[in-house]
Amino acid sequence: MSALPPDAATLLSQNKDWASKFQEDHPGFLPESADGQRPRTLWLGCSDSRVPESVITAAFPGDIFVHRNIGNQASPNDDSFQSVLEFTMSDPNSPVAASFRVEHIVIVGHIGCGAVEAGLDLAQWDTDLPDKSEFPLIRWILPIIKLAKEVGTSISLDDLIKENIRRQVDIVAKSTLVQRNWEITKEEQETPVTIHGWLYHLGTGLLEPICEVARPDEK
Ligand SMILES: [Zn+2]
Repeated sequence: MSALPPDAATLLSQNKDWASKFQEDHPGFLPESADGQRPRTLWLGCSDSRVPESVITAAFPGDIFVHRNIGNQASPNDDSFQSVLEFTMSDPNSPVAASFRVEHIVIVGHIGCGAVEAGLDLAQWDTDLPDKSEFPLIRWILPIIKLAKEVGTSISLDDLIKENIRRQVDIVAKSTLVQRNWEITKEEQETPVTIHGWLYHLGTGLLEPICEVARPDEK
């Protein structure tokens, strides 16, 4: 049996230890990072505690701009994710665009995703769920339930997790913000954003590329 995960007080004291060790190992890094950020990657991942993006990629502070939600969904109706996208695309039409423009959006699902499992279960029960359930979580995973019905509810959980990754990559690639990024970067001869779909294997700690959408050459 492994020990219990740390509580809030323990996390605070671990942070103290981490900060002093990090300053020792990388002198000047943190004060310099306080001056601004220029991440090249936007990460859209699941909220699951077992998929901490910076830990599993050995990333440093400033490396990854992050949005995580239940089931790593890129909902066009979710102002929270859309704001993150607008900000990190440094869209010229946005009044609050960042001073950096990410070159990669990685959308990361994972084996054993509870959100996708629940979506598949609910789809299999074939209950007609109203679009306006009283439960936010049901409303939130409704697109996953619909996806399961669309691809067929006999699909395996692992395959539906992959389908969900592909679907989110597709949604982001077709979004107005990404389409405009591709136009602008072509005009300005800058690096266009590429959207990657990855699957994280909890049991091995490895990320597996599933799909990728880059700016079409003819654009
Ligand atoms: Zn998950």
